[in-house]
Amino acid sequence: MTKGEIIDLLKEKDEAVIENLLRYADQVRKEYVGDAVHLRGLIEFSNYCRRDCLYCGLRRSNSNVVRYRMTIFEIIAAVFEAKDLGFQTIVLQSGEDPAYTIEDIYAFVRRIKSEFGFAVTLCIGERTYEDYARLKEAGVDRYLLRFETTDPLLFRKLKPDSLYVKRFQCLDWLKELGYQVGSGNMVGLPGQSLESLADDILKFKELDMDMIGLGPFISHPDTPLQGSANGTIDMVLRVTALTRIVTKNAHMPATTATGTIDPEGRQKALQCGANVLMPNLTPRKYRRHYLIYPDKICTDEDPRKCRFCVESMITGLGKTVSRDAGHSLKSSFQQRKSSS
Ligand code: SF4
Repeated sequence: MTKGEIIDLLKEKDEAVIENLLRYADQVRKEYVGDAVHLRGLIEFSNYCRRDCLYCGLRRSNSNVVRYRMTIFEIIAAVFEAKDLGFQTIVLQSGEDPAYTIEDIYAFVRRIKSEFGFAVTLCIGERTYEDYARLKEAGVDRYLLRFETTDPLLFRKLKPDSLYVKRFQCLDWLKELGYQVGSGNMVGLPGQSLESLADDILKFKELDMDMIGLGPFISHPDTPLQGSANGTIDMVLRVTALTRIVTKNAHMPATTATGTIDPEGRQKALQCGANVLMPNLTPRKYRRHYLIYPDKICTDEDPRKCRFCVESMITGLGKTVSRDAGHSLKSSFQQRKSSS
């Protein structure tokens, strides 16, 4: 698809055309990644962050956040629960928290890999090449680093202490080191144009991302963007569908943010391109404090209930729960793996 065609579909007013688009994306999803939905158990192990992104409730300037940092023991206990619930992949996520050294993370990832055999995904922000290399040695399989927007001016405004060039440099390093790499964007950011959304979609293709997570901007009351209009489910679904059509076989979660702006949002995303769900396994006493955006769903459910809930969602849509770890389907990943 050309950029112009993508912009036209993002602008399209005819509901029948949009319905066709979503239906077509569902067919592409079926053809390239099948009907099985992959489950990734999410553990948010620290909500400290050294950065100050304007849209984020965890930004360092937000003094209303109750900060927490899970101990290694608590992380391992959550991983144990993930094993007990039948997960094969876990995602370890935090703000950019300098209190955990790379050697700390190396140590607990090694332990998780050797004791539990999980596919491990990290989402801990921008690091140096040497850090990423060390974490790869620990056995980390995948890394998520969302660029949020490809518009350099908007990026600079929203992420004042990050460098646009560094962000993409990190994604290149991660690929070079043989990780399965995920990125993503936010839909409906204040000041975002349809043109830049189209650029985001084409960037996912250009970077040949293994995983792509996208969700709506949701205004947090304790940030400088408080009171800004939220992203809409309509636009999130269009971007999901177009991303699936353009990138074919990337793994794409139906995000919690999408389920937060619409109670059926995740189900809708799973019907127009998404093929992954990420149930939250963070201990409940911490989970309610990991609020990048407000009113996040599933902050109080028991992990067992969560697992049951997502399985019902999947089977209710006529799909199956994947029984494998859901590694990348990209041929470029296979090449990177064999050369790294
Ligand atoms: S978006 Fe990430 S890096 Fe930015 S403030 Fe929030 S947790 Fe920190």
